[in-house]
Amino acid sequence: MSGADPQRDPLVEAARRHAAEVAPQVTAWERSGRFPREAARRAAASGLLGLFAPAETGGQARSFLDGMPVFEELGRADAAYAFALSMHNAVANAIGTSASPAVRERWAARLTTGEALGGFSLTEPHAGSDAAAIASRARPNRDGYVLDGRKAWVSLAGEADVFLVVCRTGEGHGTADMLMAVVEAAQPGVRVDRLYEKAAARFLPIGELALEGVELGPERVLAPPGRGLQTALAAIDVARVDIAAIAVGLAAEALDVALRYARERRIGDGVVLDLQAIRFALADVETDVVAGRLLYRHAAALLGRPGGSVAAAHAKRFCPDAALRAAVACSEVLGAYGWLDDYPLGRFLALAKMLQVVDGTSEIQRVVIARALERRAKELAAPRPC
Ligand SMILES: Cc1cc2nc3c(=O)[nH]c(=O)nc-3n(C[C@H](O)[C@H](O)[C@H](O)COP(=O)(O)OP(=O)(O)OC[C@H]3O[C@@H](n4cnc5c(N)ncnc54)[C@H](O)[C@@H]3O)c2cc1C
Repeated sequence: MSGADPQRDPLVEAARRHAAEVAPQVTAWERSGRFPREAARRAAASGLLGLFAPAETGGQARSFLDGMPVFEELGRADAAYAFALSMHNAVANAIGTSASPAVRERWAARLTTGEALGGFSLTEPHAGSDAAAIASRARPNRDGYVLDGRKAWVSLAGEADVFLVVCRTGEGHGTADMLMAVVEAAQPGVRVDRLYEKAAARFLPIGELALEGVELGPERVLAPPGRGLQTALAAIDVARVDIAAIAVGLAAEALDVALRYARERRIGDGVVLDLQAIRFALADVETDVVAGRLLYRHAAALLGRPGGSVAAAHAKRFCPDAALRAAVACSEVLGAYGWLDDYPLGRFLALAKMLQVVDGTSEIQRVVIARALERRAKELAAPRPC
């Protein structure tokens, strides 16, 4: 694992500045319940909306290893905002590299400049972890396909201009007939049917998309039948590492908040930071931050190569769990004040929980890791008698 030094990277520095600029605005975003489109445009001006997209589409063409620290910086401000940008980057990358010339021409540059926002839609009301159970169906016709179905948990619903949608083409189960299509929010038959009321991230619209007779010409097929889920899972592997990096940013920021407070808050003859119980708790958070950073960088270096999916699962399993531990521990350092909106720790608690779920739950990461262990178990030589 090598890559540029994130401390000296101008793009990471731009992400740090952007995070510092938006962090004080998050409370107002939460109150308004509106997605901060203007902030996303400013992120685009700093190159943050086309991190992995090709240069000819206005992207930064970063390797995953060199782009990933951007998400750690964004995670310091707000994990839901960072998650939205992660998903948008996945769409900008997929359209910039794999879409038909017509779709690329129409969307690629608009996505990297922030003129358009992208969303990703796999989940359905009855099918979350078990993606093979999705039922939305694109029936073949003379001009391509006609798509009907219902998608759930669509982030940026009502805000994104274009979605990558995974659906099946036949009536069966399994994944052999799944394709991935580019669906425009403004297309006839695409409708936001419900927006969820949530525990946090109120500015990030998430809801259900009704898809009724949506026409998909062949140019809209990004991955053909048989390649749809595979293509989605490759994008999700990258997103899992994004989420791990965001979680490290959340934990690192929680630690800084706790340190600033603990060095000032007087208790007895000293300050909170003098207390050994507090010092030990914060030492554990720092170990998690350092370990999480190594894990996400290791996974980023392996993405798209053998071992990449399992490395992404390790990072996605560990980092959000560590972020939740950090949010709890750091909030405790502030006593009652950890609960106030004056500090981000209450929000971070809810967001760390969100990070455990998005792009595959912690349990699903364990499923991926355990499958790799099972393969290894089969290859192990028989035990030698002692
Ligand atoms: C904030 C947020 C934003 C989201 N945005 C998007 C989006 O933009 N696009 C999109 O497509 N999806 C999105 N999702 C959906 C997300 O990917 C799913 O919620 C997630 O995959 C889990 O699915 P589920 O909620 O249906 O849980 P279920 O699959 O019903 O799982 C329920 C519980 O069972 C556990 N479980 C399931 N299977 C196993 C197993 N085999 N072994 C052990 N335990 C298991 C799970 O870990 C979980 O604890 C979003 C979710 C959230 C919370």
